[in-house]
Amino acid sequence: MPSLAPGRPCAICGKPAVDTFRPFCSQRCKNVDLHRWLSGRYAVPAVEAEEDELGLAEPEEAPPPRRRGPLDGA
Ligand SMILES: [Zn+2]
Repeated sequence: MPSLAPGRPCAICGKPAVDTFRPFCSQRCKNVDLHRWLSGRYAVPAVEAEEDELGLAEPEEAPPPRRRGPLDGA
């Protein structure tokens, strides 16, 4: 018998979770958890993560694109 504990505390701040944001109490806590999850994932030394979605992971070392047209600063 599955026991869904009502009022399960938020995994982030411990407040009672809200149905909308289960198992968190707010969108903010949900984001925090997501951020942690992503951070932890990327912090782990890649074990040939070839299945990583290409395009989602942007290289941080890439310099910002500089668009200087011929008319710019003429
Ligand atoms: Zn919370």
